[in-house]
Amino acid sequence: MDPQSSFDVIVIGGGPGGYVAAIRCAQLGFATACIDDWTRAGGKPALGGTCTNVGCIPSKALLQSSEHYAHAAHAFADHGIRIDGLSIDVAKMLARKDGVVAQNNDGITYLFKKNKIAFFHGRGAFAGNDGDRWRIAIDGPGAATIVGSHVIIATGSTPRALPGAPFDNVRILDNAGALAMPAAPKRLGVIGAGVVGLEMGSVWRRLGSDVTILEALPVLLGNADEAVAKEAAKQFAKQGLAIKLGVTIGAVKVGSDDVRVEYTDETGAATSAVFDRLIVSIGRVPLTAGLGADVVGLVLDARGFIAVDDLCRTNLANVWAIGDVVRGPMLAHKAEDEGVAVAERIAGQHGHVDFNTIPWVIYTSPEIAWVGKTERQLKDAGVAYRAGSFPFAANGRARALGDTTGFVKFVADAATDRILGMHVIGPQASELISEGVVAMEFGASSEDIARICHAHPTLSEATREAALAVDKRTLNL
Ligand SMILES: Cc1cc2nc3c(=O)[nH]c(=O)nc-3n(C[C@H](O)[C@H](O)[C@H](O)COP(=O)(O)OP(=O)(O)OC[C@H]3O[C@@H](n4cnc5c(N)ncnc54)[C@H](O)[C@@H]3O)c2cc1C
Repeated sequence: MDPQSSFDVIVIGGGPGGYVAAIRCAQLGFATACIDDWTRAGGKPALGGTCTNVGCIPSKALLQSSEHYAHAAHAFADHGIRIDGLSIDVAKMLARKDGVVAQNNDGITYLFKKNKIAFFHGRGAFAGNDGDRWRIAIDGPGAATIVGSHVIIATGSTPRALPGAPFDNVRILDNAGALAMPAAPKRLGVIGAGVVGLEMGSVWRRLGSDVTILEALPVLLGNADEAVAKEAAKQFAKQGLAIKLGVTIGAVKVGSDDVRVEYTDETGAATSAVFDRLIVSIGRVPLTAGLGADVVGLVLDARGFIAVDDLCRTNLANVWAIGDVVRGPMLAHKAEDEGVAVAERIAGQHGHVDFNTIPWVIYTSPEIAWVGKTERQLKDAGVAYRAGSFPFAANGRARALGDTTGFVKFVADAATDRILGMHVIGPQASELISEGVVAMEFGASSEDIARICHAHPTLSEATREAALAVDKRTLNL
């Protein structure tokens, strides 16, 4: 077979899991191909998957634009900056977001060229095997049949629809629709107070929508530290996000220019709400359609994820699966780390992903981030711990920034002082959490963090103070 069609590793899917796996494979000396079907307007490929095209990157672009607008409207006056006639040009904001996405698409195309990865634009499916090599048929602009010794499946996920309420991206929006509304709707409904619902609700609330978020669970941010969740609820309410917990969604009826949602509230009373647009963000489902799983007998689990072991091995020899299409948190950095680990395992190395040190971030205002265990999880597991927290209100840099909301908190083992979790709500939580991840990866104690010099004045001093608080000896509180 011509060398252009024969590879050591074929990666199906070019999202953060797949494209990073392909780069690591190429670095390790493997002849590597990557197949991806995402297409931008005009027919060009759009490498980067959900994350780059309709997920992490565009959502953060809109969060940034809308936060600038909110600051200009509400926070600049405190700094002595007066703006008369403030307005928002949503079309320009969306065009900027599209530009940021395109830069990332093109960046990955460049990385593929730099690493000599063969890219095939189209949908890849198992078509059988030639001896111990897998045959993959590609359908689309880059149509071809290629063979590979190893296959890494990184086909990601798609949004879950509400039963009886399919996405039309006019009235009932998925994440792609939520990122592309041409104007802030007067009445915006959001079903699901998870990360996507809160982030998208925040964007459009800042731009003037009346936002109501309907959540089935009786508590907000059930996976987060309880004090963090409490503070978040307080701040979101202040911002005018109306969050209704413990609801059961009934019929969703699309009208000519609105959408009605019938639901029972937390008391069990039947009620309804009418919105101009409704974002449904109730989770995502693994994407295996068209992959040819049955052709080769690839096993899926009961929930439709590709079944893998701890090392991301499927039931088929030399076929691996990573990212959103397998168990575990649906996060871009989890997908990337699994991609690197699998490439290294194919090379006979010992790639490793520790789920306990994967950070979680919600890019609302205030930002929320955590790693490791919450107090509730430790209590339930009967682990004796000490906790310490420090408010940004007592941090000089936060005061100078004019953003003193929230706190940093550590939980550490009562006997050994080893850090078991870090929880942050407040400015730059997404960046601050890295210190906790590094500390946990190195098995650090809270005393280690407390003894490390932190630059002054920085928000990271609150991290050090929270570590000192574990031993009840904060210096600035
Ligand atoms: C609105 C939103 C915001 C998010 N924000 C964050 C965030 O801030 N941080 C974070 O960590 N995570 C975030 N996520 C989650 C993150 O996007 C996913 O966890 C991540 O994209 C998963 O990566 P992946 O490589 O597994 O799959 P994907 O990114 O879904 O990529 C899979 C790729 O494979 C392609 N594909 C599928 N089947 C085939 C086939 N048969 N042949 C060829 N190509 C195929 C798909 O078209 C896609 O391009 C967000 C998600 C959403 C929806």
